[in-house]
Amino acid sequence: MSKEYKSIETKSIHAGEPSPRIKGAVVLPVFQSSTFEYAGEASYHDVRYIRLNNTPNHFALHEKLAALENAEAAIVTASGMAAISTALLAVLSAGDHILMQDCLYGGTHDLVTRDFKDFGLSYTFINGDDAASWKEQVRPNTKAIYVEAMTNPLLQVADLKAIPAFAREHHLISMIDNTFASPVNFRPVEWGFDIVLHSATKYLNGHTDIVAGAAIGRADLIERIKHKLDHLGGSLDPHAAFLLHRGLKTLALRVAKNNENALKLAQFLETHPAVAKVNYAGLESHERHARARELFTGFGGVLSFELKGDVAKAEAFMKKAQLPIVAPSLGGVETLMTRPVTTSHAGMSAEDREKAGISDTLIRVSVGIEAIEDLIEDFAQALAE
Ligand code: PLP
Repeated sequence: MSKEYKSIETKSIHAGEPSPRIKGAVVLPVFQSSTFEYAGEASYHDVRYIRLNNTPNHFALHEKLAALENAEAAIVTASGMAAISTALLAVLSAGDHILMQDCLYGGTHDLVTRDFKDFGLSYTFINGDDAASWKEQVRPNTKAIYVEAMTNPLLQVADLKAIPAFAREHHLISMIDNTFASPVNFRPVEWGFDIVLHSATKYLNGHTDIVAGAAIGRADLIERIKHKLDHLGGSLDPHAAFLLHRGLKTLALRVAKNNENALKLAQFLETHPAVAKVNYAGLESHERHARARELFTGFGGVLSFELKGDVAKAEAFMKKAQLPIVAPSLGGVETLMTRPVTTSHAGMSAEDREKAGISDTLIRVSVGIEAIEDLIEDFAQALAE
């Protein structure tokens, strides 16, 4: 066990670091060895082998991530989807049912709607904002409830405070995808959630150079997820673990800047005459701003907005903007933007998109850590007629 560190800045640097340091190295080296000398391990899950998620690079990350989320335990995975799918399959067995928030990340949505039936699993989509409507959806075989910290791309904030209490009342496991908030802004375990999931590809790593994931939370559940992961094989390679470990050390600094830049950019866009609407929970105009203020330390680096006018206007803006790179994904040091209709939500029917409030002109921005003056200047020139 590492020492207890109070602040997230200190945890990101010191939690989980080997003691004593390996050969005095200040940075934990990458252990690029698929297997390790047998040392009398009693159980299959303890045999030292990369796929069994127990190299020194894994252990250090597990401890650091658990500390960052103020949780008992953590496990890293080969991608965010590996964390989500493995955690769901660890919690649910054939015949079980789960309540899922109705506006999920596309990959999770596809897993649930397309693959669950092959595993004998069923689901009901719930409105995360309407706690009174959840109870009637619970069935005798309901085992878990699953939500996201902020929704993509509209940045809605569900009634997250009500979820853990509801889960306890109905003997459900509460699960949350905390990718958009990151533990800098929101630590769901402190609010009573059982399992926190991340695409570590995003803020946790922060440098847009790996895919990785994590499941963090109650020790007994993380143990179940580890056993499932050992079988399914979605393990993180030590080199990617090394990069994630490096990225985590600047998490608090990066996310503070992502938060600050996104808020300033959202405020700029909100007052711009060419902009019809801005979605960002940090804005006082956001319908759940008060809830977001209560839950979150900061409001994250992702915002979305609609331009007045048609798709051609939105496309022209995206071509004229120089700093943001037009690409999917989020949570890195560089500003990325995308039109969700052409990327993350391309698989959805036009009718479903309209129902969800995702217009063709909606632009999602993952605000990076560039100088905000430069970003605002660039957005202003790209918005000018
Ligand atoms: N969860 C959220 C909220 C995401 O945005 C993503 C990816 O965009 C994922 C999960 C999946 O993560 P990965 O791409 O690392 O598998």
